[in-house]
Amino acid sequence: NGPISVFGISLDNWTLSDLLNDIKQACQANSSVKLQQYSFVNADCLNISCHNEAYRRSLKQSKRIFADGIGVRLACLSKGHPLRDNLNGTDMFPRLCELAAEQQLSIFLLGGEEGVAAATAENMLQHYSNLKIAGVHNGYFDMSGNSEENNQIVAQINQSNADILLVAMGAPLQERWLEDNKPQLNCSVGIGVGGLFDFYSN
Ligand code: UDP
Repeated sequence: NGPISVFGISLDNWTLSDLLNDIKQACQANSSVKLQQYSFVNADCLNISCHNEAYRRSLKQSKRIFADGIGVRLACLSKGHPLRDNLNGTDMFPRLCELAAEQQLSIFLLGGEEGVAAATAENMLQHYSNLKIAGVHNGYFDMSGNSEENNQIVAQINQSNADILLVAMGAPLQERWLEDNKPQLNCSVGIGVGGLFDFYSN
């Protein structure tokens, strides 16, 4: 069950339950530990990683990288390693909300068009009565290093005291943003989740 290397990216062969346990532990760990980044990669992401060095670097400094979809599953199988699970933000999200509600961990939703993260929050709050959504923000802002807008959003996330930050801006942007802003963020966990809020907002 060790990691599987595909195109030089080391994929963790975990189940969704393993992932949720790890997130729980990361949130309970000493708060001096910096944000732990988790990434999902599908076949398209692996292709991008072959020619986008910055994306590759941001993936490699993730705490864990998970295989999303049939393309990566086949690539692993061709190397003789069957994957134990198909891991992606969409399947993880309801289970993560359940865990967060149970453990009183709060989630910040960053990304998507204006109003989409807020609609996602509203939907999830209806399903999980004890869930705490720490805050929301759209994913369209000036992300250039140290822009005032970017600093304000980082401050908003930190002031919300969120334990878990979901960044839904698509790959490779979300992984790069997490890597760039990690030193300033106080959340325990950051996860790039692609178009997740588009699916859960209506
Ligand atoms: N997005 C964003 N900011 C940007 C570009 C994209 O928040 O600057 C959002 C977009 O609104 C969409 C998501 O990122 O919700 C990308 O979804 P997509 O399905 O393309 O991502 P994937 O899951 O394929 O990585």
